[in-house]
Amino acid sequence: MKIVEIRLSMLRVPLRTPFRTALREVDSVEDIVVTVHTDDGHVGYGEAPPTAAITGETHASIIAAVRRHIAPRLIGEDIADLNRVVGLIQSALEKNTSAKAAAEIAIYDLWAQYHGAPLYQLLGGGHPRLSTDLTISVNDVDTMVADALNAIARGYTSLKIKIGKKIDDDIVRVRAIHTAVGESALLRLDANQGWTAAEAVRAIRQLEDAGVRMELVEQPVKAHDLEGLRHVTRHVDTPIMADESAFGPKDLLELIRLRAADIVNIKLMKTGGISGALRMADIAAMHGMECMIGCMLESSISVAAAVHVAVARSNVITKIDLDGPSLCTFNPVDGGVDFDESHLSIPPLPGLGIRSIRGLEPL
Ligand code: MG
Repeated sequence: MKIVEIRLSMLRVPLRTPFRTALREVDSVEDIVVTVHTDDGHVGYGEAPPTAAITGETHASIIAAVRRHIAPRLIGEDIADLNRVVGLIQSALEKNTSAKAAAEIAIYDLWAQYHGAPLYQLLGGGHPRLSTDLTISVNDVDTMVADALNAIARGYTSLKIKIGKKIDDDIVRVRAIHTAVGESALLRLDANQGWTAAEAVRAIRQLEDAGVRMELVEQPVKAHDLEGLRHVTRHVDTPIMADESAFGPKDLLELIRLRAADIVNIKLMKTGGISGALRMADIAAMHGMECMIGCMLESSISVAAAVHVAVARSNVITKIDLDGPSLCTFNPVDGGVDFDESHLSIPPLPGLGIRSIRGLEPL
């Protein structure tokens, strides 16, 4: 099974409601889809979102990275030689982790198709069903409470609350949501780098003292502020999770060395794809650290790959934040992972199981 062509397309899917965090506001998924074609007629699918505020990537940079740097080295390569092909992708250029992830996901999809098995089985196997949380965007208090109650009505039992704006308002937001939802959902807070270390300690302690039970607080301080992250982790009871502070395995080793966080959020778009995500999960497992697996604003192409990774590493990936498809107005994928609100399940199909994708605009 040799690679003969790599094509790029644009996928546009409106979101049900605008996605708002301390860093950005977005109202639709507009991702680059990579399709890798083989000499025997197989197609592998990958996807990259332009998350400039986090990975530094834009539509233009993703297209250029794949077209000029990654694709030319893959033509003629044999899918059976997975590690070699992955190495060619990862060494094609520095950074550009989402572009690399899109290419890698398509290659892993083909590799599993080549072996005739669902990808997760080849990554180690597991129970092919998961349950995800749902993100509640940062808004005025009443909107956030209404969104949280709506999520519970849709069957979610775990909510990712976006905060990280003005700290006193954030405390009001979280207390109001906690009062409204009671014991019906676990609360995960994500400040998206919006606080200083001192603010984070004050806010989290106030919430703890007020009896608000938080499963974890994600990325309270700036990505580069590992000292600040460690300070927060040391001075509150609630587990602290690193997201933007840990892109790949090397960042994770530094976090572990500094004991700067209790948990790490693995995302394929930060690690450069599946190989880096597996490596992070294995490093975390070695050090007894729990992981979340998360996504950017992605549809059910690349999030499907994250579901396969999560199932195959369920020993260490215990928290699932793969709600990209749930935030979308429709699922453009025929086949693939089934996203039914909080319930995610992998069908018994080879690779990622994607048969076709609706509405792709060739680039
Ligand atoms: Mg986050």
